Order: sequence, then C-alpha cells, then structure tokens
Amino acid sequence: MDWRSPPETRDGFEVAIFCALRRELDAVRLVCDRIWSDDGREYGKARGDWNEYITGLIGNHNVVLVQLPHIGKEAAATAAAYVQTSFPRIRLALLVGICGGTPRNNKSSQDILFGDVIISHKIMQYDFALSYSDGPEIIDTGEHMKSGPHITCFAETLQGGEPRQRLEDHWTQHLENVRQRDTKGIYSYPGIDSDVLFLPNYRHKHRGFQQGDLECPMCASQGDQTCSEARNASCTELGCDEALQVHRGLSKRR
Ligand SMILES: [Zn+2]
Ligand SMILES: [Zn+2]
Repeated sequence: MDWRSPPETRDGFEVAIFCALRRELDAVRLVCDRIWSDDGREYGKARGDWNEYITGLIGNHNVVLVQLPHIGKEAAATAAAYVQTSFPRIRLALLVGICGGTPRNNKSSQDILFGDVIISHKIMQYDFALSYSDGPEIIDTGEHMKSGPHITCFAETLQGGEPRQRLEDHWTQHLENVRQRDTKGIYSYPGIDSDVLFLPNYRHKHRGFQQGDLECPMCASQGDQTCSEARNASCTELGCDEALQVHRGLSKRR
C-alpha cells in the first residue's frame, strides 16, 4: 500500500496533536500534506467521545488533530482521554501552540524571541512545582512527574547534533509549506522588531486619563485590571512608554 494512502481504520493513527486555540490548529492544518476528509475519508469516533477531529498526513505520519474546548489542564486531560477511546493506537501526543510569557531561558540566559521554537527536554507537572524568577522549584518528585523513557530519549536527541540539524532543516520546509498553503495570508512572521518586552509591573492599558481624554474606568482603577479593548490594541495606540521597555539580545540575532 502506498504510504500516502489513507489508513483503513482509526487504528492507523499513532500521532495526536492538540491545540488550545483555533488559530493554532489552523496553522497545524496547513502543515499537513494531506487532509483525509478532503479525499472523502471520514473516520468517525467512539461513542461518547466529544472531541472533534481532523485527520491527515504530515510527511509519512498519519496524524489526528484535536481542538481543545478551551485552554487549561482539565480540558487537555479530558480531550486526551477521549482520543484514547477513538484512536487506541496513539503513541505520541503533542501539545502544540503559541508560547507566551516566557521571555528568557533562565538556564542558558538566552532571550526567547518571536520565531524561536521551544522544545521541552523534560516533562513536569507544574502543579507540583513553585515558580520563581530563577526557575521552577520542584516540591514533589513522585512517579507522576516522570515521563516515559522513550519520550526522554527522543527529547534528548533533539538537544543537538545531527538530529537537531535535521529538525531545523525540516522545520524550515514546514514553514515554507505553511506560507504557500496559507492562501488567505493569515500567518506571517512579524519580524524581530515587533518583539517588545516591558518591565513586569508595567501594564498595557488605556492611558487616556493622563492625556485629558475620556477616562477608561477599568484601566484607570488601581491594581492590574485592564479592559479587553486595551488588550487588543497596540502599544502605539495606547501610548505605552518606550522608556520602560526591556532591551534584550535582539542585535545578536539579526
Ligand atoms: Zn481600558
Ligand atoms: Zn503596550
């Protein structure tokens, strides 16, 4: 059988990719070389499974894409349990998405900038760790925090050498595929200059009250509250103070 032929049944899928946001799932969809429903193949799902699936092919791997109902561990855990009922042969489950709020790798002291791809090298259940400015402190080292040896080995091979180089080469090709298949022009690289970081206590919010304009009551209130309109506006529109930006290793990456 041609490896590009769709699998006969749901047992033919061994990789599941979970995304919390629709725009993340749509991007992964563009990475797929084939979408099996476009070829008229529907695989259905087990009785009682609430997940919605997109099935396809990336390279020579049949994959099932899963949209989580919302962000959070509960949604991910529930969706993962359903996947196992409908696709019992899944061996690798990946959570793929935009990583926010991680400006720096504390271990290597390297800044993390737009376009960087972050690959974990270990799995940590973060309800069992405390987060400090210099990194997490594990408060429980029980069995539940350990990943299987095959995952640990796989992640370790991606840390350097030839496997890492191959990954980087393939990644470039996948990005190019997304660019070509994105006929609506939704996805693009905003450029490193758009990677702006402010001091942690500086809020991105309406400052009209400082300029004598109408006051936004939520943004003007004490504390960390901001309104949704401000969250969707640019720093230029809100007049965020450039003097309070954190200057990072941008020049090193140009
Ligand atoms: Zn506001
Ligand atoms: Zn801002």
